Amino acid sequence: MIIKENIRNFCIIAHIDHGKSTLADRFLELTKTVEARQMKNQYLDTMELERERGITIKLQPVRMLYKASPTNADCTLTDVDNKLLYEDLTYKIRGVAFKVKKTIGLGHKENVYQNALEEEFKNQGLNIQREKRIDIIYNDKKIGVYQPDFVIDNKVIVEIKALPFIGKKEEKQIWSYLKGSKYKLLLLINFGSDDIYFKRIIYDKVRICPRESVFSPRKSAQVEYIFNLIDTPGHVDFSYEVSRSLAAVEGAILLVDATQGIQAQTLANLHQAKNQGLDIIPAINKIDLPAADSEKVSKEIQSVLKVSEDQIIKISAKTGENVEQVLEEVIKKVRSPKGDENLTRALIFDSIYDEYRGVIAYVRIVDGEIFASDQIKMLATGASDEVLEVGKFSPKLTPCEKLSVGDIGYVVTGFKDINKCQVGDTLTILNSKNLNKIKNYKLKTKNFDVSPLPGYKKIKPMIFASIYTATGEVNKLRDALGKLKLNDASLSYEPENSKVFGFGFECGFLGLLHMEIIKERLEREYDLDLIITTPQVKYKIIDQVSGKEISNQLFNQSTNQLIQEPWVKLDIITPQIYIGQVMELAQKSRAKYLSTNYLADRVLLKYEAPLASVIINFYDRLKSVSAGYASMNYEMIGYRAGDLVKMDILIAGDKIDVLSQIVHKKELHSKAHRIVKRLKELIPRQMFQVSIQAAVGGKILARENITALKKDVTAHL
Ligand code: GDP
Ligand code: MG
Repeated sequence: MIIKENIRNFCIIAHIDHGKSTLADRFLELTKTVEARQMKNQYLDTMELERERGITIKLQPVRMLYKASPTNADCTLTDVDNKLLYEDLTYKIRGVAFKVKKTIGLGHKENVYQNALEEEFKNQGLNIQREKRIDIIYNDKKIGVYQPDFVIDNKVIVEIKALPFIGKKEEKQIWSYLKGSKYKLLLLINFGSDDIYFKRIIYDKVRICPRESVFSPRKSAQVEYIFNLIDTPGHVDFSYEVSRSLAAVEGAILLVDATQGIQAQTLANLHQAKNQGLDIIPAINKIDLPAADSEKVSKEIQSVLKVSEDQIIKISAKTGENVEQVLEEVIKKVRSPKGDENLTRALIFDSIYDEYRGVIAYVRIVDGEIFASDQIKMLATGASDEVLEVGKFSPKLTPCEKLSVGDIGYVVTGFKDINKCQVGDTLTILNSKNLNKIKNYKLKTKNFDVSPLPGYKKIKPMIFASIYTATGEVNKLRDALGKLKLNDASLSYEPENSKVFGFGFECGFLGLLHMEIIKERLEREYDLDLIITTPQVKYKIIDQVSGKEISNQLFNQSTNQLIQEPWVKLDIITPQIYIGQVMELAQKSRAKYLSTNYLADRVLLKYEAPLASVIINFYDRLKSVSAGYASMNYEMIGYRAGDLVKMDILIAGDKIDVLSQIVHKKELHSKAHRIVKRLKELIPRQMFQVSIQAAVGGKILARENITALKKDVTAHL
């Protein structure tokens, strides 16, 4: 097992517009990943559509380098009058620490070093006291007790740490202990970063201010960290992008707008992050705004995360205030990645298609290494090929020699066939030209028994619509859908044949915005002219005798067939003053109330509701009854029988398949009248009279006639 001490992989969880992309901009600047002259707002939103609409649609990984400065830059090696305090003694202590490091190496727990040091201090004949109780004195009175790791020769306090990075907080704490004691010098030794690190902390009552000096085996005590950030979208329709990102990282920043509070969807993403065991760093954004109420938002976060106030960082991503503190928390709180070097496994969390080089897989290396020119294999599809290139996101695709444990990068697979590479699949290697450079025991012994990584839950589409081309270019449409699916794993499609439009595809989407975005991407990126039908949820028709599901075409109103519709778990967060209006809206939408929970000043209402009434218009109505403050989230729970019938539309006596729809009995008559009226406006007049009818079974519910052109003309004459 190897641990990559200096890598931190994380993403940001936030509601749309709470400032994720802006915070990512600040990170890019702080780490100098993007040159100042190339910097622009929401830098990671690279797609034309994202920039036009001002929203993030795609997840976007970026690698940043950050030098953590564990000390004040202007520290000197001298204490007082060019003479080091207890120079000989500290020299001995340092020698002991180096010996311990040399013998047992880095990466152990704190108490391992304490025990080893104790042994070695004794060997050297030093007078030591371990965990001595030292009184903390204030105004000559004892006010507390402090137990440092060691006191040496009754002169120097030694504190041992095994932390990746010593922050200002730890230093301050140690300094105040020192200040309250009779000792003048404390030596802090950290074994946790990629090299041993010493810090002398001096407190001299005469000077009444801390003077510090640094020793380090290297010239610079700075530690360089690699941050892999995956920027994710905030809209519910793109939640699959979020869940895939969560599986590729160890930590998440929970970012909440100080003027808005936690939104329903953020809560859902947060639960997912916690279930995956991610380390969470809570932050409140937009504290620069006059309407910011960080205190209230802080209470909400405390109640959902069970953290204390001081663990929540208050920032402004816009002005940059406290943003660096967030990065330092990432170093401290997010675990470094670890993996096995004796096999290679990479999780494919996204992919794109390159016209010249084929499929490029975005991967998180879980175990082992991948070099350009390695022979790779996909565990689910079984496809194999030679890697053309590997690289990292800087943020542009930047080639490198290899990817190893903990890295987030890309692999140019060489596959021209898009079906060979699936998001969620595990990539492994079958052969390598670099066998001499790597440990990979399994590969060396030709043991290809590698089990797949957990991958992702298959995503279920929420709504369906059929897409046809206006120009009859079915093959071009099929090709475009395939390539788009590579880059958007939540899209699904099945070939379909309509009497009216000919061949096309029934496509599944996660919501209306998703559908809109797919249509626009198909038209822009693949130059297609499309016809898309009205979106609907998917109903199931069950034969009550056999209990089996039957196809839509075989549905017969008069037989023992039952229509089932999808239901969702619906969570709504609203300020308390709008509870009445929100509940009324939910009831009108056939939702079933479950419970109420309080989040500081707001409430979380839980419901179950038919997807059909939640997915269309509900969000807009919710926003309008709550002055924009309520938010919602929904998740599919399954199918339930409903009072549903299939309504057919007949034009000139012919049933038009694409216009049939399933309707709740309550809404049947109003819908029937609305649709025939609308069709009357849309269909151009003909030389003869045309009837438009809405019917259930054989029964006509509404009818309109389009009068014949000829008759009209003669009437005028
Ligand atoms: P995202 O949807 O979460 O990626 O949000 P964006 O980063 O695109 O930000 C949404 C809007 O909020 C933009 O207009 C930003 O300029 C603005 N914004 C982000 N952070 C702050 C902040 O700290 N203070 C203020 N005043 N505005 C901010
Ligand atoms: Mg964004």
